[in-house]
Amino acid sequence: MTINNDVVQAIGNTPLIKLRHASEATGCTILGKAEFMNPGQSVKDRAGKWMILEAEKRGDLKPGGLVVEATAGNTGIGLAVVASARGYRTLIVIPDTQSQEKKDMLRLCGAELVEVPALPFSNPNCYQHVGKRLAAQLRKTEPNGVLFGDQWNNLDNAKAHYESTGPEIWRDTGGKIDGFICSVGTGGTLAGTSRYLKEKNKGITIACADPHGAAMYELFKNGTAKSTPGGSISEGIGLGRVTPVIETAKVDTAFLIPDEEWVPVIYDLLEHEGLCLGGSTGVNVAGAIRLARQLGPGKTIVTILCDSGNRYQSKLFNPEFMRSKNLPVPAWLEKHGKIDV
Ligand code: PMP
Repeated sequence: MTINNDVVQAIGNTPLIKLRHASEATGCTILGKAEFMNPGQSVKDRAGKWMILEAEKRGDLKPGGLVVEATAGNTGIGLAVVASARGYRTLIVIPDTQSQEKKDMLRLCGAELVEVPALPFSNPNCYQHVGKRLAAQLRKTEPNGVLFGDQWNNLDNAKAHYESTGPEIWRDTGGKIDGFICSVGTGGTLAGTSRYLKEKNKGITIACADPHGAAMYELFKNGTAKSTPGGSISEGIGLGRVTPVIETAKVDTAFLIPDEEWVPVIYDLLEHEGLCLGGSTGVNVAGAIRLARQLGPGKTIVTILCDSGNRYQSKLFNPEFMRSKNLPVPAWLEKHGKIDV
């Protein structure tokens, strides 16, 4: 019998799921790590857990303290889950373009939300700068301390994956793994997991799957962080610059995945695997298929199933939204979507 003392202990140890269709199509074994099964339903629960527990160890956070973070949503949910269980409050700065479902979930989890217009990082009012300024301001008045999560710069974010995601993948594959691929939001997942796996076996190919508009494809392919043209409807991924966290990643190669390539993958997972997942997972699985084709048949490739699709009902799974982005409405949605077509 295994009993977790609290929700924090229930974060991690997610199963690997063989993706049948992707495996059959490539002759490889493609495995998805089911991060949507974390209590906060995303891979970012791990970052939330490590950033808070490491801050506690350093004495940066006292009971009743405030956790402040700038986030596309999932890190905020992860932090709010852990904060609630350990007696902290959360204040989240989020770009107003993020899905309503993530914002609703954050509020339900008890987070105070500050919505700001989505602006590029170069703009001083980009949500990341607003979050930093707010944290500094609140530090003056909060009696029990303020932790600014600072996920792009906070190495505890990558440590979460070095100490949990990487070891779990190694353990659950019995070391029989030839490739690992995932996309980058802060790069915590890619950095921590790649560092662990490379230490175990430097022959494992580590790849980055990048959406259009981000700069990681150019960084890992050609050595300079330069944004690729266009954009993507994926959320939570798409880093435009080199940060302290991504700098620690050990990456061999990269793939640029257009929306037209990964959206069908999301619907394939829904129709054939019983998995309803978010856009970044589409980028990851499409990337795993590309990596499988590059490495050749018989290989085992692991990727991340980042978050639950119920976070994107109003977008990726909404025909009107898809049409507004000039993306085809998948037949599956015409038949099974809740919203009228
Ligand atoms: N997928 C989703 C849905 C996310 O929210 C995030 C984090 N923002 C990621 C992937 C990427 O995770 P990381 O920050 O570890 O790169």
